Amino acid sequence: MRIARFCFGVGLVGLLLAAGAANAQKKMGGDPAEPAQGTPRTKGPARLTKAIARQSVDTKSMLALIDQMVACGTRLTLSSWTDPKRGAGCGRDKIAARLEEISKLTGGKLQVVVDKFEATAERTSGKPVPLENVYAILPGTDETLKKTVFLVSGHFDSRPSDVMDPNADAPGADDDASGVAVSVECARLLSKLAASGKSGYRATLLFAAVSGEEQGLLGSTHLVEWLKEKGYTVGGMLDDDIVGDDPAPGGPHRVRLFSGNGEIEDADSPSRELARAIEEIDGRDAIRMVFRVDRYGRGGDHYPFYKAGLPAVRFTEPLEDYNHQHQTPRTENDVEYGDFAKYLNAAFLGNVARDNAEALRQLAMAPAAPTEVRLSGAVTSDAKLSWKAEDDSERAGFEILWRETTEARWQVFDFVPSAGETVLKGVSTDNHFFAVRAVGKNGARSIATASQPQVRPAPGTNKK
Ligand SMILES: [Zn+2]
Repeated sequence: MRIARFCFGVGLVGLLLAAGAANAQKKMGGDPAEPAQGTPRTKGPARLTKAIARQSVDTKSMLALIDQMVACGTRLTLSSWTDPKRGAGCGRDKIAARLEEISKLTGGKLQVVVDKFEATAERTSGKPVPLENVYAILPGTDETLKKTVFLVSGHFDSRPSDVMDPNADAPGADDDASGVAVSVECARLLSKLAASGKSGYRATLLFAAVSGEEQGLLGSTHLVEWLKEKGYTVGGMLDDDIVGDDPAPGGPHRVRLFSGNGEIEDADSPSRELARAIEEIDGRDAIRMVFRVDRYGRGGDHYPFYKAGLPAVRFTEPLEDYNHQHQTPRTENDVEYGDFAKYLNAAFLGNVARDNAEALRQLAMAPAAPTEVRLSGAVTSDAKLSWKAEDDSERAGFEILWRETTEARWQVFDFVPSAGETVLKGVSTDNHFFAVRAVGKNGARSIATASQPQVRPAPGTNKK
């Protein structure tokens, strides 16, 4: 019985005492247990099963693309965009050619776009420089949801020790040809599934390879604007940067997944919800969530999306080797420096591609996440949640999520067929965090939308 199980709200304890139920509480040991872990109370459709088998990932082609990019000598954003043999333009050509090849194999499902623009930053010496991003777009099939885009991105620019030197070699195999290879392999896996009729994506998928990361996240910052201009809403952004190596013994290890807190009290930013959704889809044995926007003192292409309040996360290998990043190739005191393909770990790289592809697949099959999720019921013994959602004939309903304030992950509290309001009987607003997510008839879940409290300010705290 729910009321007996969750009676740790002070108000509710009072009620129980008043009702002569003190004995019931005594039996439960005074402070009853936290909500049962691992037993979802869902009455909705079962979760989608995974469709991307690890053996379907073509690591050989991923490594071949990385080798082609390394052979461009350098891909620094400030290097040549017109020389087909050396420079950023050479890298762009290899990626666009591979995406065109994949598109042909899947009956032209992918639209390949080369997006040219200019940007100015400290690391362009304050002068506008030309940049280019490469995108492959797999349009969604749902009239409403096709303007929502889920994207995966790696950056194809690389850098030597001196970020302003266009002439030094900068192989950039791990940073970040590896992330580009993941993005391109996701394009292959997911467009192939779409062509076979085995998976229909309601939302649009976009596979990006951007430039200007090392010059100050310029390509990604531009991509946020480009998507807005094209009228897309960002459903989720997966940044893959330095995802090709796993040198510690005992691997392959889990890939790290960084997500920022956001600026609300309970650390439930859209980015954090995206991280939780990815972990649920891929499993705890595949994903190591890190509740931090990025590694200390480092940045990445998810950041401009995150700062815009959009759901964006970063995948990075478990333990980085700094001799193999941002280093002009050389040997000093018998130590070899340089970001070469020989250090990559194909088994790990393939796992990352599978994890990204499966997450993108399930998210693009899900209904839209609910909006305007509001929590009320402060100073009562029941929590009330209300939320909104567009009509959707493919949606089965909504899962009401909650967790202890000390817990990292959501539990399913209840399943409700339609949008509106629900009352969580005997659940104090004070002791939990709450969220709502949409569930498709196909079993795909949207990312959760955390509740915003509608509470009166506590006495004495309403000072400006
Ligand atoms: Zn990088």
